[in-house]
Amino acid sequence: MACVLQIGAGGVGGVVAHKMAMNREVFSRIILASRTLDKCKVIADSIKQKGLGEIEIDCVDADSVESMVALIEKYKPKLVVNVALPYQDLSIMEACLRTKTHYLDTANYEHPDSAHFEYKEQWAYDTRYKEAGIFGLLGSGFDPGVTNVFCAYAQKHYFDEIHSIDILDCNAGDHGYAFATNFNPEINLREVSSKARFWSKDNDLSKNTDLKKDTIYRKFEREEKHFSLEANTQDLKNEDYFGGQWQDIAPLDLMKEWEYPEVGVKNSYLLYHEELESLVRNIKGLKRIRFFMTFGESYLTHMKCLENVGLLRVDEIEHNGQKIVPIQALKTLLPDPVSLAPRTKGQTHIGCYIKGIKDGKERTIYIYNICDHEACYKEVNAQGVSYTTGVPAMIGAKLILEGKWGIGAAKIPNNADNSDMPKGGEYQGVDSNNGSGVWNMEQNDPDPFMAELNKQGLPYVVCEIDSKGERKVLEDGRK
Ligand code: NDP
Repeated sequence: MACVLQIGAGGVGGVVAHKMAMNREVFSRIILASRTLDKCKVIADSIKQKGLGEIEIDCVDADSVESMVALIEKYKPKLVVNVALPYQDLSIMEACLRTKTHYLDTANYEHPDSAHFEYKEQWAYDTRYKEAGIFGLLGSGFDPGVTNVFCAYAQKHYFDEIHSIDILDCNAGDHGYAFATNFNPEINLREVSSKARFWSKDNDLSKNTDLKKDTIYRKFEREEKHFSLEANTQDLKNEDYFGGQWQDIAPLDLMKEWEYPEVGVKNSYLLYHEELESLVRNIKGLKRIRFFMTFGESYLTHMKCLENVGLLRVDEIEHNGQKIVPIQALKTLLPDPVSLAPRTKGQTHIGCYIKGIKDGKERTIYIYNICDHEACYKEVNAQGVSYTTGVPAMIGAKLILEGKWGIGAAKIPNNADNSDMPKGGEYQGVDSNNGSGVWNMEQNDPDPFMAELNKQGLPYVVCEIDSKGERKVLEDGRK
């Protein structure tokens, strides 16, 4: 029985609050605070209407550390669940440190003025969190989040060594608009239009040029196409990182057809995604990791056009004597992701395609979840992308409050080469103080989290893929 303070009342926030209210034996008191009180009220009313009891609501500007400290001191929660925007991560983490309160988020810190994200600034809190005896859980959404846990689960139960990971994210849903984003438009468009990168420590794996010789190529991996863009204004680099290299490519430069079990073949584009940064450090034997996301033609054409006319710019421009940031103006024009919920049909499919060695033999494992947009709407008034983020946030919070993750719970040690860490992050991944500190998802025992996925609405499937591309189901949480 514990008190939890949730910050953020958007698409994801609505799901987290409903799901916490469905698990009252753990979340006995729920306070939902956000910038706009009315949005909190809509969620609180829906929770009440569904017979899930009362939650309290409040208002806060989470950019202000002082306001966050005052709010935490007012309610004295055991845990703060941050599902506001990535811009607020550091101010909320700082307020948690000052009040010695556990912290959880679903996306890593981004500075509003640069479309760039990395964990370093959050890892720098590790030593201070250890000294304060509090636990910070980073990235407890789906990707990052469940994808990290899928990799840790594969490492624990299916491999001695993992050599390559491809994270596949497919939203096969249709909301009926020509163009809309299924989570915060500003964050979504910054992510997709940024240069793409993947990590590799093995040149043979840096481009999959041998795919056509691969016997399972047509069955599961399908074709990989490399586009060379006419103009590339991005500063593309190869950078050393953790014994391998980040290799940059232009945005949407590499497309590959993946076959998504139960959904079909979809064009998928290589993107940079934040879980790659921590998985590189924490997965034993890794030689390459990439992230792919599906996009429809309409989305890509609109995005390219918006970029070409300058509407994806994140810097200030002068408009009729006023300063505006084009991407923020675009966000105002686009449909609110929350409004997509009642009109979205179809499914999301997110999984990890993992190759490695077990008992001296090569093996390929695919772990995935499929989520139905309409079923999500029926359950908690949300579309699948908010649902697949909000449920894992609730599960992370539940495990912390139950003592299964966090203080007192064993951690999976990393390779502990932290020579590149920022000051304060030197001991990240080292469990020197009874489970406290700042941790990524895959550094915790995956088993209790996986068990909760099956219970809380996101069941997972594990299959083995043989050398001919045939799939054999090893676990299916839906049965
Ligand atoms: P929304 O834009 O729908 O909601 C964001 C919420 O945060 C709104 O209620 C907003 O308030 C509130 N907020 C913004 N700024 C502040 C502030 N300064 N103080 C207090 N509240 C504030 O976003 P989503 O719900 O779609 O996304 C929430 C988070 O989930 C984001 O960080 C996103 O990156 C992350 N995410 C993670 C995924 C994963 O799989 N890991 C996938 C999808 C999203 P207001 O309404 O007033 O603007």
